[in-house]
Amino acid sequence: MPRAQSIALTAAYQQNPNHKRVSMQMSDKSEAADVAMLRFAYDERLSSQVFQRFGKPATGVLPGHNALLNMRRKHLLGDAIRITPELLPDVWRAFAQCLRSLGLSAQSGGLYVQQCSEYNANVMSDGENFDIVVNSGLLNDFSLAEFRFVVGHELGHVLYDHHEISLQGLFQQHSMMDERDALLLFGWSRAAEISADRVGLLCAGSVEDAVSAIFKLSSGLNGIDKSLIRASMQQQFEDLKNHIHQWQKNPESRDDRHDIRTHPMGPIRFRALEVASAHIASIFNSPMSNKPAPLIALDQRIAALLDAIDEGVAEHRGFETAAGKDMLTKIVLYVALAGGYLSQDMLAMVRQVCASLPGEYSPESVIVEANNKALDRHFREGIVAELKACFENEILTTDEAARGLSLASMLCGGEAIYLIAVHEIARALEIDTDRFTLSQTARRLSRAEIVRVLGISS
Ligand SMILES: [Zn+2]
Repeated sequence: MPRAQSIALTAAYQQNPNHKRVSMQMSDKSEAADVAMLRFAYDERLSSQVFQRFGKPATGVLPGHNALLNMRRKHLLGDAIRITPELLPDVWRAFAQCLRSLGLSAQSGGLYVQQCSEYNANVMSDGENFDIVVNSGLLNDFSLAEFRFVVGHELGHVLYDHHEISLQGLFQQHSMMDERDALLLFGWSRAAEISADRVGLLCAGSVEDAVSAIFKLSSGLNGIDKSLIRASMQQQFEDLKNHIHQWQKNPESRDDRHDIRTHPMGPIRFRALEVASAHIASIFNSPMSNKPAPLIALDQRIAALLDAIDEGVAEHRGFETAAGKDMLTKIVLYVALAGGYLSQDMLAMVRQVCASLPGEYSPESVIVEANNKALDRHFREGIVAELKACFENEILTTDEAARGLSLASMLCGGEAIYLIAVHEIARALEIDTDRFTLSQTARRLSRAEIVRVLGISS
């Protein structure tokens, strides 16, 4: 972060019979917390991968940000209208409130409006200065709180230095972009939007106003009751999730899994924001210096949501690493040991799973230890704790761990005791049960079948 950004919130929870409402009021006094803490972890991780691949900044052929900003400022002063306190006092006050709350100076940025009915806004930044342009349609139809969400979102891009990656510049530079690189860039772009939405939420002050702004941006509709908006977004999110899960089971879906889009789907933005809002409010209620555990866990769940849409960027590489293979072996072992001992059949099965993984990997020491301590309850508890730590360190993605659970259930299924073991691991790793398949019958799988279940390209 280039400078210290601070914001203080007071949060109040109001329980109502239908849903938990979270409201937040911004204030620029009292204790401050760092906006950097709110950044979506996936955005940080993917951006560092982009920098490793393309250098930093990763802007391809585009001229320096300073030159770009100056070029654009000339265009804006010529063709758009600059918003001043005299011209639109309410809008200006809302803009100034966002800047103040985020620790940004009014001197560093400009606000412009251009004639366009489409609900949209954008920002250009050089890391120090920035200009935000808002379309007139949005300014006419959005409430001031919804407008603060939009401005906060754009300021989120400024604060998180998202200008250091330019998809446009990189695609111009690399006319034959490698598919994997392209998917990484689009994946990062969508993750960056989730980060920006969280700053938008802070500035809007309530999740209702933030969601209503997202609804208007997606639908172009104005004047719909806020309670209807939330219910319809919730329903559409569930429908989208079910559709994706069904489609993923279909072999024809393989060609469709790479979704090329710079912004996350509206219902996913909604869901990511809604689940984040309670945690965000509680973070700002109890300031602390480190990113708190609930937000880390939450970020993993949201990353899994995004992965479900675009598996390509999910880095299916965990099974190639020694730690990832170890983790998979332990998932299978834990389930296989549920009966209290490791039979010759189960032993052969664990060895076959390991042999199906890419590269050299010898699980023998793990197997010998498991064989010796099969009846020791603490040994199995230890496995769960180890798996949890590995998962928190992102050794396997949620999708990979879910595939491991499906595999273990197919190999050991049949008896309830094995299925319970699968559920125990899922609960410890916070993996939704609808992300893996539970098999009721145990069966031997060929190497090709194991590879298919694990999603490894052999
Ligand atoms: Zn954005």
